[in-house]
Amino acid sequence: MREMGMAALSLVEAYIRDLPHLPAFDLGGATDLAARLREPAPEHGTDWDGLLETVAAAAAGGATSAGPGYLAYVPGGGLYVSALADLLAAALNKYVSVWNLAPACAQIEATAIRWLCDLFGYPPAARGILTSGGSMANFSAVVTARTALLDEDFLDGTLYVTDQTHASSAKAARLAGFPRAHVRTVPTLGSLTMDPKALARMVADDRAAGRRPFLVIGSAGTTNTGAVDPLDALADVARAEGLWFHVDAAYGGPFQLTERGRALLRGIERADSITLDPHKAMFLPYGTGALLVRDGPRLRQAHHLDAHYLQDLGAEDDIPNFTEYSPELTRDFRGLRLWLPIKLHGLAAFREALDEKLDLARVAHSALVDAGFEVPWEPSLTTVAFRRVPGDGDADACNARLLRRVNAGGRVLLSSTMIGGTYMLRLCVVSHRTHLDRVEEAIEAIRNSDR
Ligand SMILES: *Cc1c(COP(=O)(O)O)cnc(C)c1O
Repeated sequence: MREMGMAALSLVEAYIRDLPHLPAFDLGGATDLAARLREPAPEHGTDWDGLLETVAAAAAGGATSAGPGYLAYVPGGGLYVSALADLLAAALNKYVSVWNLAPACAQIEATAIRWLCDLFGYPPAARGILTSGGSMANFSAVVTARTALLDEDFLDGTLYVTDQTHASSAKAARLAGFPRAHVRTVPTLGSLTMDPKALARMVADDRAAGRRPFLVIGSAGTTNTGAVDPLDALADVARAEGLWFHVDAAYGGPFQLTERGRALLRGIERADSITLDPHKAMFLPYGTGALLVRDGPRLRQAHHLDAHYLQDLGAEDDIPNFTEYSPELTRDFRGLRLWLPIKLHGLAAFREALDEKLDLARVAHSALVDAGFEVPWEPSLTTVAFRRVPGDGDADACNARLLRRVNAGGRVLLSSTMIGGTYMLRLCVVSHRTHLDRVEEAIEAIRNSDR
């Protein structure tokens, strides 16, 4: 056991040490390796060292998503201590979905969730679940809102998003059984945030047409630009209209730890439910999302069914039975992955790291403005969307070329998106491993590739 563990740990140590030097993206031999990995299950075993070599080789290809140059999509990084938490959780293999099989482990998870609730001033009756990511959290949120406000004939229910809302919300609505056309797209203002007046009008129109508006989904940090909807104003509309107010704060939620973030997210504490993704701005490894619900019993009502074979297990007491709040029964002890780093480092470390990322996005923003790029939105969080407006020729093609050149340099990986029909480049700083030096390198690479 020790030898195998030490060998795995050596791999991890070497990989993390090399992260700053690894190419930000390199398909290299990874597709060839992928082809060789299409094989039948072996009848007989293989030696451990050889298998670790395969793992290392597999990790070498594609994006270095744990590294400092990963500025594409919404990064996270992956804290080392959370990886150790996963090792402990898997090796100890405690069952946390019903509390009395592992009361203290379930409490560790409940405590970590409570810390997230505290961040948003949620009352003691609030409950939450750790999910595999923001998509599953949004799914459970839609089902919770549906169960709370509609009956079983819910097909006339309508919900409200914008064209900047993450697609996982529309996907959640579809999985929850709603017709596609009942996901309404509310117009945005120039800031790419939901227009509360337009929302109120659409709700009234839908009511007049005999449909049943029940849910508005605000964004606290859109994926495209990090825009934060006017949450307070949306909460007002939701309250006046009797709608469930869900905030998708998958990306922006953890910035609530900072003073600037709290000011920006004002009103989020009024949400009926909040999605956040600790595997983004809390730097955890992939596989950690969270859904918080202000009125805990509502979350339970949407997810709980009795099962005879669980009759020996205690009703929940001070410790929740997580399975009663979630689509899942058996799963990993994922709370340890969140609890350990907060205990080890303290919230101050997260606060400082997030403040640094907010600063870095501002650095990138002003450097890109200075370099003559079109940067239409000042970053509210840590995403900067920009493009070159060429003197002549196809602007979209010019920016796609720019993106290819920057990424081919291997020091940073940026991504692109379409905003209002225009091709835009994105630079998103979230990883705990990204600091000023790498952001400056990114700017340099963008400038040099623009010639
Ligand atoms: C990333 C993201 C999601 C989806 O979360 P996953 O963890 O990728 O499932 C949802 N909403 C927003 C705003 C996001 O940034």
